[in-house]
Amino acid sequence: MSEKFDVTVIGGGPGGYVCAIRLSQLGFKTACIDSRGTLGGTCLNIGCIPSKSLLNLSENFHKAKNFEKIGIDISEIKLNLQKMMKNKDEAVSVLTKGVEFLLKKNKVVYFKGTGSFKSKNQISVINNGKETIIETKNTIISTGSEPVSLNNVEFDEEKILSSTGALSISTLPKKMVVIGGGYIGLEMGSVWSRLGTEVIVIEFLDHITPGMDKEISSEFIKILKKQGIKFELETKVEKVIKTKNGVSIETSNKKGDKKKFETDVVLVSVGRKPYTKKLNLKKIGVEINQKGNVIVNKNFQTNIKNIYAIGDVIQGPMLAHKAEEEGIAVAELIAGQSGHVNYDTIPGVVYTSPEVASIGQTEEQLKEKGIKYKVGKFSFMANSRAKAINESEGFVKILAENKTDKVLGVHIIGQHAGEIIAEMAVAMEFGASSEDIARTCHAHPTFSEAIKEAALSVDKRQIHS
Ligand SMILES: Cc1cc2nc3c(=O)[nH]c(=O)nc-3n(C[C@H](O)[C@H](O)[C@H](O)COP(=O)(O)OP(=O)(O)OC[C@H]3O[C@@H](n4cnc5c(N)ncnc54)[C@H](O)[C@@H]3O)c2cc1C
Repeated sequence: MSEKFDVTVIGGGPGGYVCAIRLSQLGFKTACIDSRGTLGGTCLNIGCIPSKSLLNLSENFHKAKNFEKIGIDISEIKLNLQKMMKNKDEAVSVLTKGVEFLLKKNKVVYFKGTGSFKSKNQISVINNGKETIIETKNTIISTGSEPVSLNNVEFDEEKILSSTGALSISTLPKKMVVIGGGYIGLEMGSVWSRLGTEVIVIEFLDHITPGMDKEISSEFIKILKKQGIKFELETKVEKVIKTKNGVSIETSNKKGDKKKFETDVVLVSVGRKPYTKKLNLKKIGVEINQKGNVIVNKNFQTNIKNIYAIGDVIQGPMLAHKAEEEGIAVAELIAGQSGHVNYDTIPGVVYTSPEVASIGQTEEQLKEKGIKYKVGKFSFMANSRAKAINESEGFVKILAENKTDKVLGVHIIGQHAGEIIAEMAVAMEFGASSEDIARTCHAHPTFSEAIKEAALSVDKRQIHS
């Protein structure tokens, strides 16, 4: 017997589950299939949430170890890694169960199992060898992404780790090599460095966090180096070989010099790729590009009319909130409304300490496009709240169009950058000028005052520096 639905969503990550809830709100009979066993996708299970939990826990440990410096004398601080991991697992479990509750509350029917297309209106769900057939008018593919490895390097999640393995290490490694200086490598590297592991990041380019505003990225690497993380830039990994006690990594740099690194574990964080393996897309003729992304038009529609795709599986930044926005937009488009995603105002955050947050265009992008711009900057060194709590690293940088003063990009390195960037997302969504931000009253003393001052500084009239 088959079950009938208006829309079936394959994948219960932030793209899929949010989309399913919105579809149901709009009156569609909706199914959501996920093979993982728990909802929330990469984000809740092996991505955003466990990594942020460990970032917070390891920062607490690191801070506690430095309490003496701020006049709090306590006896020896010891790490209990098992307890820390349990704490992280509990955060994941509460949130994934929360998503299951939300689906139920919104009358979305949740199918545990692997979904694959039998035809463009028929989905098979296999769970423990048992098949259920779903008849569906429309389908949304939101099957996410998976980590990429290097040629001939296989993840064993014991010595050669993907981000998933790096979230569940059971014994503190003495040494960790991170291949790739992107945000996942730097977040996970920070976690283990704070807990006491010696961390070396190997990056092919001459800078970390590719795509980030270069001035911010230069400040970022300086701060991370001060925290004890070592960097080998312009270095190519040639070979990764498992040894009796760990891993041996052979590299060469730009000049052709060879160097070998012996390490307990290596985290390979060189990117992620779209995941469509089990969907049977070929059979029904859904087109994918060379990178493996499902190709969609501006309405998230594939070349097959009643099949849509959203999230990491399509092009664009691989971010949970981007997937969510697309989930809502596609649901509203199917309902005949005017769902829309503004890709110019999607913030990106690196949750290290300090955090790094960006929205809009970088200085390099503006130069490349020949757009004339003004720059406003303000250092947290001159921000009273940051100073008062000893968190004064970093700065805010605002890029505004020369003639119109419209804000085109905002880049922040500093504590709570991931929170205060939200103000700029709203401002940019409403087409704000730097003058608008500068004339908006900000509470004192707050980190967000640095935004106001940076906006004032666009026209060289900042007060506090
Ligand atoms: C370590 C790490 C940290 C991250 N931190 C952040 C962060 O701080 N902020 C942020 O915005 N993003 C972060 N991300 C990225 C974020 O997790 C992804 O962008 C987001 O999860 C994408 O959502 P999605 O719904 O497209 O796919 P996913 O979350 O990957 O969900 C897809 C789901 O589909 C399921 N699935 C796949 N194929 C099938 C099938 N055939 N049948 C049934 N189910 C299937 C999968 O099991 C999965 O549960 C992080 C990622 C990692 C790895």
